[in-house]
Amino acid sequence: MANFYKDNDDLRFYVDKWIDWQPLVAITEESFADDDGHDSLEDALEFYKDLLDMVGNFVADEIAPHAAKIDATPMELVDGEVIFPDVLQTIFDKIKALELHGMCLPRQLGGMNCPLMLYMLNSEMFARADVSTMTHHGFHGGMAMAMLVYSLQEGTTEFELDPPRLVKTRFADAISEIARGEAWGCMDITEPDAGSDMAALRCRGEEDADGNWTVTGQKIFITSGHGKYHFVIARTEDAADPNDPFAGLKGLSMFLVPTYEETGRGKNKKRKRLAEIGRLEEKIGHKGSATCQIHFDKTPAHLIGERGEGFKYMLLLMNNARVGVGFESIGLCEAALRMAKEYAAERRSMGKTIDQHEMIADYIAEMEADVVGLRAIAVEACYHEEMNQKVSMVAEHLLAEGSLDRARRDKEARHHKATARRMTPLLKYLAAEKAVEMARRCMQIHGGVGYTKDYGAERLLRDALVMPIYEGTSQIQALMCMKDTLGGIMKNPQEFVRRIAQARWRSLSARDPLERRFAKLQATSLSAQQHLITKTATDKIKGLRGVPMGKWQHALTKDWNPKKDFAYAMLHAERLTRILADELVCELLWEQAQAHPERRVWLERYLDRAEPRARFLLDEITTTGERLLRKLAGNGEATREEAARA
Ligand SMILES: Cc1cc2nc3c(=O)[nH]c(=O)nc-3n(C[C@H](O)[C@H](O)[C@H](O)COP(=O)(O)OP(=O)(O)OC[C@H]3O[C@@H](n4cnc5c(N)ncnc54)[C@H](O)[C@@H]3O)c2cc1C
Repeated sequence: MANFYKDNDDLRFYVDKWIDWQPLVAITEESFADDDGHDSLEDALEFYKDLLDMVGNFVADEIAPHAAKIDATPMELVDGEVIFPDVLQTIFDKIKALELHGMCLPRQLGGMNCPLMLYMLNSEMFARADVSTMTHHGFHGGMAMAMLVYSLQEGTTEFELDPPRLVKTRFADAISEIARGEAWGCMDITEPDAGSDMAALRCRGEEDADGNWTVTGQKIFITSGHGKYHFVIARTEDAADPNDPFAGLKGLSMFLVPTYEETGRGKNKKRKRLAEIGRLEEKIGHKGSATCQIHFDKTPAHLIGERGEGFKYMLLLMNNARVGVGFESIGLCEAALRMAKEYAAERRSMGKTIDQHEMIADYIAEMEADVVGLRAIAVEACYHEEMNQKVSMVAEHLLAEGSLDRARRDKEARHHKATARRMTPLLKYLAAEKAVEMARRCMQIHGGVGYTKDYGAERLLRDALVMPIYEGTSQIQALMCMKDTLGGIMKNPQEFVRRIAQARWRSLSARDPLERRFAKLQATSLSAQQHLITKTATDKIKGLRGVPMGKWQHALTKDWNPKKDFAYAMLHAERLTRILADELVCELLWEQAQAHPERRVWLERYLDRAEPRARFLLDEITTTGERLLRKLAGNGEATREEAARA
């Protein structure tokens, strides 16, 4: 019996030795307390490990062997409904029988009340078996959880305080339907003329005289769009300033839209569609996941929260989804690494197996270290995102305003929120890009057969290519990282100066050579940030000659022109993000190495590659781009000398 949990030492390191389960279990049980809760931490952990073991076995034996067939057997749109091939339907039925859809939902709503962390670790294993099945499964529980979180946010979930327990929640019926595996959920944002640019969304939400809402418009690329419950983001107000490209974000609202109604039971069941599936997208990969075009025409809708709060609600959903893509990408990386290693250990060339040839050995060694590094970010980002959401919920709903407990919890939630915000785009960016790189390497290691369908290497590459596109493209993640990083420096330049001094000092004086190397990497990252902030604030800094950097805050934070001032930083955002991601991996592996000396080797192996990469990227950031920016600004392609003379 194969088992994707038992055969993965790095994954089990997190479960057995690294994840701080105590606060996660406590807050998960505290949020949705009930009589069937775990008696102790040990009890909960035993249950989680049994579940991981069971899922590890299930995905290895019941999904992975069918991945090629899932890829080769298309689903169809028949009379407006998506029909899945038998191979997928059988898997979905088994997932339903195992009751995995409700893993994170409160027990009172038909779930197991497990931490989101457990769900994500399981998702990685699902994705290793087949990414599209993982995506499909993720759109069950994930959306049901979102219904609960939205209801909490808008204040339509009620709790008893003593003992704390859930009394009722607005979407309880829909949540239970999803938990039972009888309905799917999905997230409808993208439109033909609006993907990354959400301010351009046109789908409309309209309210009639009786306060009933409908939505009208077209959404495209909707994963699991065949499902019943759609979170639709639609425009309820026009942009106040047509010249401001971001003004449109303020007029968006979030709706829950059931896309069909069913009457009768069994063979007499009849479905009436309230929104039409226009078509199934023909994709190059993710063949087991239904990606649909949806048409809404005055379809009845339920407004979530207040009108105009759509972007805020969308971000809540996106954060979890981006962490989810991080784990999904790692699952695919793990599959690519193992497939590549297995083939390279068997295939012979020029007198030895190809894993003994230096270049191939180097590829595999880098892939191994990258998977370890990615998992370090993923677990940490997930931990902080989950703690942020649950601690905020407990503080807001179960603790009295003004109490000491409430103040403590609020502070704790702010810390988790800031950390998750720093880590999530770095995870999404790096994991997605690495999925493509590793799948490509796996294919290369297979040589000619990699280009055929025989081993499945090309399938991994086709599946990987969407990771840097959906849930916010790599470029959008890079812009977020850049803006947050430079914004943080502007808000607190003294702290930035202190960090530079500290990194330089540690790079010279730390006792541990690995700490010195990590501190040097940090110093390189800070140099890149310093260069970008100096370039970004050139005009403002001109007036600050002689003023120490620690005192620039006031001048830096006023009178910004985002179009002009950020051009240089936007040009180099991806390079900066790559350095920041390496820095974060090393920071986390350094923490692990201090507590578990057997992890030092991973930090060393990661640093070996991150150090020269960071130096190269810093060089690119400091020496390239001026010519392109002059061209984009309409000043032609003048040489540096000509531009200087002009
Ligand atoms: C298989 C699949 C499943 C999907 N599932 C869903 C789903 O469930 N729900 C949903 O709503 N959507 C879904 N999407 C849509 C997906 O989220 C979008 O495709 C994505 O957000 C990019 O939008 P776009 O395709 O319009 O590209 P565009 O926004 O047009 O971008 C094109 C290119 O330009 C770049 N770009 C855009 N703006 C900037 C900028 N300011 N700076 C630098 N570069 C920029 C982008 O990074 C990208 O490389 C899915 C897509 C696919 C392929």
